[in-house]
Amino acid sequence: MISLILASRNLHKIRECRTILHHLKHLDILSLLDFPDYIPPEEIGTTFSENAVIKAVHAAKALNSWVLADDSGLVIPALHGAPGIYSARYAGNRASDAENRKKLLEEMQHLLEEDRAGYFYCAAALASPEGLKKCVTGSCEGKILNKERGGSGFGYDPLFVKNEYNKTFSEIPEAIKNQISHRRKALDKILIFLENLRT
Ligand code: IMP
Repeated sequence: MISLILASRNLHKIRECRTILHHLKHLDILSLLDFPDYIPPEEIGTTFSENAVIKAVHAAKALNSWVLADDSGLVIPALHGAPGIYSARYAGNRASDAENRKKLLEEMQHLLEEDRAGYFYCAAALASPEGLKKCVTGSCEGKILNKERGGSGFGYDPLFVKNEYNKTFSEIPEAIKNQISHRRKALDKILIFLENLRT
């Protein structure tokens, strides 16, 4: 078995990544929850990819293991790309998902219907203790509602409706989200590499 550490403590992200990778039986998939003493680096990159690489390379070296890091967020072109790489801390450094969604709704209040387009974006970086091996990206286009709908998911899920769908990411089963999400599209591009991963 080869250990692959997901560089996250976000339970939702961890569960989604685990589900997408579940058929890779030669991998023992861990997360930063298994390493409570590990201190992640500051995310000082200016793009999703830069931040994913910073997280993956740092953890791979510190924990001496293969590491997969996901940096993701919601991009609204009419808000000049906000919340973007600041999605997790849009309403402040320790803001909750609910506070971030509230701020987004306020910022979008004045927008016309056609300006409520947005997309989720995910950069996934894979690193070994020797350094970066691969960085891939995926996106999922849709629109932002003017009020929350649904009870599952995390982050901006209750506000996001993917194009050609009528339900938010919080209203559809997680299994469906995992087939169509930005995270799925990014991880699909790294699957063959992971399938062939040997020590
Ligand atoms: P990160 O942990 O720095 O990559 O921040 C990710 C943030 O982007 C999360 O805290 C959410 O606010 C948002 N986000 C990323 N992926 C998703 C998703 O699949 N659904 C909802 N929100 C997401």
